[in-house]
Amino acid sequence: MPLATRAAREPLHAYTCPICLAPPTNATLTPCGHILCGECLFTAVNAAVMRTGITGLGARCPVCRASIPGWDGRGGGVIGLQPRIMISL
Ligand SMILES: [Zn+2]
Ligand SMILES: [Zn+2]
Repeated sequence: MPLATRAAREPLHAYTCPICLAPPTNATLTPCGHILCGECLFTAVNAAVMRTGITGLGARCPVCRASIPGWDGRGGGVIGLQPRIMISL
């Protein structure tokens, strides 16, 4: 279901990953409603978690710093919006 073609820049598809400033790859939704690349989100949150040394409890949204309950570093606590298929196609 191609909602947006590569040429089109529609307002509905105007999401930008706040970390890499590109349209999110493997868009992932945080509980606080922010959309980021899966990779950017995981990298940012895991780095923050490692800094605190408290797995799960240190997980915060890189955008608004809301905590992400259920974070396990493998997709827990966040929602993937796009299947991986979109990349390989
Ligand atoms: Zn990104
Ligand atoms: Zn947030």
